[in-house]
Amino acid sequence: MSEHTTRAPTPAPARIESYLCGRWVSGEGAGAPLHNPTTGEVVATASSAGLDLGAALAFARERGGPALRALTFAERGALLKAMSQAIHAEREALIELGRLNAGNTRGDAKFDIDGATHTLMHYAQLGESLGERRVLLDGEPEPVARGGRLSGQHILAPRHGVAVHINAFNFPAWGLAEKAACALLAGVPVLSKPATSTAWMTHALVRAVAPLLPEGALSLLCGGVGDLLSHLDWRDVVAFTGSADTGRVIRAHANVLAQGVQVNIEADSLNAALLDEAAEDATYDAFIRDVHREMTQKAGQKCTAARRVLVPRARLDEVVADLSERLGRSVVGDPALDEVTVGPLSAPSQRAAALEGLAALSADARVVFGGPEGPRVGVPDGVGAFINPTVLCAAGPLPATSAVHRVEVFGPVVTLIPYDSDEEAIAQARMGDGCLVTAIYGDRLELLEAAVLGLAAWSGRLVVVDAQVADKSLSPGLVTPQLLHGGPGRAGGGEELGGLRGLKLYQQRCAVQGNGPKLARLF
Ligand code: NAP
Repeated sequence: MSEHTTRAPTPAPARIESYLCGRWVSGEGAGAPLHNPTTGEVVATASSAGLDLGAALAFARERGGPALRALTFAERGALLKAMSQAIHAEREALIELGRLNAGNTRGDAKFDIDGATHTLMHYAQLGESLGERRVLLDGEPEPVARGGRLSGQHILAPRHGVAVHINAFNFPAWGLAEKAACALLAGVPVLSKPATSTAWMTHALVRAVAPLLPEGALSLLCGGVGDLLSHLDWRDVVAFTGSADTGRVIRAHANVLAQGVQVNIEADSLNAALLDEAAEDATYDAFIRDVHREMTQKAGQKCTAARRVLVPRARLDEVVADLSERLGRSVVGDPALDEVTVGPLSAPSQRAAALEGLAALSADARVVFGGPEGPRVGVPDGVGAFINPTVLCAAGPLPATSAVHRVEVFGPVVTLIPYDSDEEAIAQARMGDGCLVTAIYGDRLELLEAAVLGLAAWSGRLVVVDAQVADKSLSPGLVTPQLLHGGPGRAGGGEELGGLRGLKLYQQRCAVQGNGPKLARLF
């Protein structure tokens, strides 16, 4: 028996505080429980009840905003670099919180934390490269009258409100960092609200970085969102990541509508991976590698993970055999154990939702590998929020109304959909009604052209893998700071990252018309 299976008595639950108006504060009452999803124990509580969120927003607008706007891009970049370094210095402590409060294996927690430090560092470098300026130019000067002297210049200036970031439970570190990097570099203060169930890591991260920033530049709200949205005005921005249902509630919020608050939604997504029948060996191997990784990394709790896998009918048996062989090597269990590669879902409620979703998928597809209740290492039967890797397979292409095209099971679950022609595969991929990412594994130019033209309007990102890039290609689920993250339709219609494009949400585009040579000197 491993030494890790003998547990010390659980300490009393920690209290997760918020950081508002430059102070650490806790809401009233018992608060919401945060669980260790491996054992089911309550490890912490958080409450926002009674906190004055209007005052918190005003503090960020009046203190954090002016302080950030006074800095040049290079100076803001230096703040992001310091944040990245401070998070890296806390890496081991944060990894432990990822295990304790989110069921992360060491690899899963590193993926989240290193994603945060990498993204902050990327934007730090962008800031440095922009140097001493405080506004960005949008395009070239435009002559607006004969003679050339009168011209116009579009500029991007920081908004004077607060960037309110409402995040999902699955990336408590990266989720904060990717949004905060763009807003802070743009010169806009951040109020970050992590999902309550996994907020402990975010709380520890903000404790590490807040002292490095100007007062009011970064606030943290732990616990429910309360009446936060009622205090927003037109200067503010809400960037939300989470379920499509909550996204709709935010969009339809009376004050958000009345004030015309800018809203960016990153919601759920039924991402597709498409294998070409003629895929070369290297392309095929990358396909199996990536589908396996997307299923097992973070126990499949990535918004960008493939949920629907389109397989040419002639290769279906081969795919089932190879994917099953690879998944058979995954070890599910207590993430504290070195041999474990798949931990639990991050909360008991997530397991309940995944089981419900799996039941819905089962109406149109049968299980060909695994099942939710498979073997687990280091945890007693019936304990923890575990779902074992599960592959379902449909009999053929499915109608758009099928649960396979409608229900996102946020766990280590995929459905294989056999297809018989390129057109059919593309039509099936479109039935997700808008995805964050679609991956195409194939070497035929004809298929790639049809897939890119046929799916670009349905996807925020297309990952095209052929034999020449197969060994270098990044897994489709990996969000990089250089490229856009977001997707149309069901995926929320939002856009984040994409290098400097990620700052636009926090900037006002303004056309400045005047004396051309003078404007040139000004900017
Ligand atoms: P969720 O239930 O929608 O919660 C997301 C966030 O919204 C949490 O911080 C939650 O706070 C907050 N929230 C809940 N009700 C709210 C309301 N009425 N007004 C404002 N905020 C409210 O989603 P989740 O379960 O955390 O995350 C899972 C989902 O997120 C999945 O569907 C996944 O696909 C999606 N996701 C998408 C992306 C992406 O980039 N597109 C990335 C990751 C995850 P509390 O926790 O306090 O309730």
